[in-house]
Amino acid sequence: MTRPVVRFAPSPTGRLHVGNVRTALINWLFSRGQQGKFILRIDDTDIERSTQENEDALKVDLTWLGLTWDESFNQSHRFKVYDAAADKLRAMGLLYPCYETAEELDVKRKIAQTRGRPPVYDRAALKLTAKERAELEAKGLKPHWRFKLSGERVEWNDLVRGPQSIDTSSVSDPILIREDGSYLYTLPSVVDDIEAGITHVVRGEDHVTNSGAQIEIFLALGGKAPEMAHTPLLIGADGAALSKRIGSLSMGELRARGYEPMAICSHLAKLGTSDNIEARTSLEQLCEEFAFSKIGRAPARFDDNDLNALNAALVHAMPFEAVRERLTALDARAASEPFWLAVRENCTFVADAAAWVEIVFGEPTPLVADEDKEFIAAAAAHLPDGELTGESWSAWTNALKATTGRKGRGLFMPLRKALTGLEHGPDMGAVLPLIGREKVLQRLG
Ligand code: GLU
Repeated sequence: MTRPVVRFAPSPTGRLHVGNVRTALINWLFSRGQQGKFILRIDDTDIERSTQENEDALKVDLTWLGLTWDESFNQSHRFKVYDAAADKLRAMGLLYPCYETAEELDVKRKIAQTRGRPPVYDRAALKLTAKERAELEAKGLKPHWRFKLSGERVEWNDLVRGPQSIDTSSVSDPILIREDGSYLYTLPSVVDDIEAGITHVVRGEDHVTNSGAQIEIFLALGGKAPEMAHTPLLIGADGAALSKRIGSLSMGELRARGYEPMAICSHLAKLGTSDNIEARTSLEQLCEEFAFSKIGRAPARFDDNDLNALNAALVHAMPFEAVRERLTALDARAASEPFWLAVRENCTFVADAAAWVEIVFGEPTPLVADEDKEFIAAAAAHLPDGELTGESWSAWTNALKATTGRKGRGLFMPLRKALTGLEHGPDMGAVLPLIGREKVLQRLG
């Protein structure tokens, strides 16, 4: 197979969300897995709604996720190239001027619907004579331009959806250029895909109908159409839209919440596929496991709980060196290897370590039930002599078992509650030496 060339083409009209990132990731995994090329194309033809701030933010997000690109360019720098392509289509009779106003088109659609016909544009503008056009323009009307579809079926074998067939007689000739001369997305995308030698267009299934027209434009402009893969959309775990869920947050917000990039990438690479959703520590591994054939046709479920579980699994396995700087930034007392190794399994996010700093090194309020008072006093008396070490906990609890007759939960829970003020938490054997002799005795009263 030749090396694939793909592109991720976000519009900088807002921030990146998990849906966009999934498209970026699938493009990235596919191309990198085959030593191909990944191009970042900024679809900023909508000058009004595109902002530099959004463009900068999406580049920061992709970099944070590890989705680096080989090349990047902006569509807003390429209007001359699109003009030349439009001229070529005009010369071929495939791009024609239309003068209907939005209201007139609306009326046409409604009439078609009441007659039980599909609301397809009737091509009235194609019948205008040169004289009629000149008259309309003399009145100050500016044309918008439509691409003349063939009326035939356009077929392709979608890498995710299988054989696709779109009857172009059942869709309106798409508008490529607005009255004000600005381009809609359809034409610039094809022009750029041809020029960049894109071999595979990989995007969300909301673009399937566009593909019918775009394939015809590819052919008209002399290029051959690339392979296509349209991935099912993302929905929430209960089948509802992603709003009000973690999945509706922007990448910046997810980053601020402390998610690990690989938790997000692991989830997005696996959901809606035949693979299990499991944490992976590198994009390379996700590349090896990627295949279009594993992606199902049903909407992919983005589950907040899965994302949290993946994040926790990654955090639980993180070596100290990988988090040293982040722990230092949290609290100088957190930046110690024994502390991290003791608490990491109780953290969903690295920043959760801050709460354990307070419990271990701060002044938590001991919890001692009336019926445990005597036992806790005995515990203070039996604390092993000298500095507390990794062995102290078992020596201590064995001695207490022998003298008080307590065992299991009745033995361990009162100690945990007295020392940490909590009923659950890290392994006490690891925590005891971190608290230290003096504070242990203090907390035991
Ligand atoms: N800018 C388009 C979008 O964000 C790109 C679609 C495509 O990949 O062709 O939907």
